[in-house]
Amino acid sequence: MAALFGAIADDFTGATDLAGLLARSGARVSLRIGVPKEPESDPAPFEVIALKIRTEPVSQAVEQALAALDWLQGAGVTRFFWKYCSTFDSTPDGNIGPVAEALMHKLGAKQTTYCPAFPENGRSIFMGNLFVGQQLLAESPMKDHPLTPMRDSNLMRLLQPQVTGEVGLVDRLTVANGATALRKALDTGPRHVILDAVANSDLTTIAKACRDELLMTGGSAVAMPLPDLYRKDGLLNDDGAETSFNPPAGKGIILSGSCSAMTQAQVKAYQKIGPSFRLNPIELNSGGIEPVLEWLGAQTTTPLVYATAAPDQVRAAQEQLGTEKAGALIEDTLAQIAVAARGMGVRRFVVAGGETSGAVTKALAVSRLDIGPEIAPGVPWCSAQSGGEKVALALKSGNFGNEDFFQTAMQMVDVT
Ligand code: ADP
Repeated sequence: MAALFGAIADDFTGATDLAGLLARSGARVSLRIGVPKEPESDPAPFEVIALKIRTEPVSQAVEQALAALDWLQGAGVTRFFWKYCSTFDSTPDGNIGPVAEALMHKLGAKQTTYCPAFPENGRSIFMGNLFVGQQLLAESPMKDHPLTPMRDSNLMRLLQPQVTGEVGLVDRLTVANGATALRKALDTGPRHVILDAVANSDLTTIAKACRDELLMTGGSAVAMPLPDLYRKDGLLNDDGAETSFNPPAGKGIILSGSCSAMTQAQVKAYQKIGPSFRLNPIELNSGGIEPVLEWLGAQTTTPLVYATAAPDQVRAAQEQLGTEKAGALIEDTLAQIAVAARGMGVRRFVVAGGETSGAVTKALAVSRLDIGPEIAPGVPWCSAQSGGEKVALALKSGNFGNEDFFQTAMQMVDVT
């Protein structure tokens, strides 16, 4: 079956978030890490390509997005989605607008829509203004983001400097009147249309009205209703049967490089039930990774290797080694441990941390993740090929999951 829907995501965890939400419907979803070098003979109906272009120079972001579009078209995709963050992370230069315009141009699309709303996570849009919980975007912590500080909450004002075409709004009063009313408003609307949405029902209305557009853009949530709509339209004949997830036999490991508050609690919870080894960047810098590899070889139940530490410990390491070096040392070490563990028969990997997940998947040479069941919202088990072996991977970004996440994840694949 050819791919039906293809998404281009501007970062890795945004791509997993979208892939996970699409897979909730039971549809088969594949996540590609970067643009695959080869065409795909067996694409999934839903293909998501993870790029890392949120803060790249505009020309490079556009080039990579067009390469992704090319690959998706080759896989048979006819409906495209440009995925960015639900807080519209961008600068006056881009990259949300320039990439959208480049994709529109290549596809011959006369119009596209913008809906970053994610009501379940507190992102809503009213009269074109984006809210984070009860705060306007520009009054939320996003105003101090190191790379993309968001100092305006009005999406029309944020988008207009990024595009050449006209920007307009279809507001909640129209969206609340349903898909037919929205479609009518869009048919006479400008080239770039911001869409208000404050509740999941608004997203369903938007998905209904826009499901056959060449290009939709937004956060992950507005894409969530699409698989069911395509099923009803007779475009997707899968009965959810294609998604069966069969974790490979083998051992498990948990690798944690995230220092977020939730990951700290998850590490503490797992330490009560399983063996763990703490990586200290200062010791690693002088002693290397032999001690942890030796320890790993001696474990008989699923081990946790973690660098997760409280802010004062992280600061101490950063002061001694430099922030970048401390981070890179941990990421490299966890990546090397993942490869060594695979050599020891490990086939089920739980990884905590967005950057850490990037480093580990790269070291394991994983280029495609087939999305399986969700362990926690936004964190699915995935199947992949690594070094000629089938492996299962769960990639958790910082604050996701409950305290017992590690245990729950391993129980789902029967390893404790
Ligand atoms: P999150 O998803 O929680 O943001 P990331 O993996 O994206 O997690 O980022 C955490 C960063 O902190 C990584 O670069 C990691 O290498 C670094 N790090 C982890 N533990 C330590 C530590 N003990 N000292 C210094 N840096 C650390």
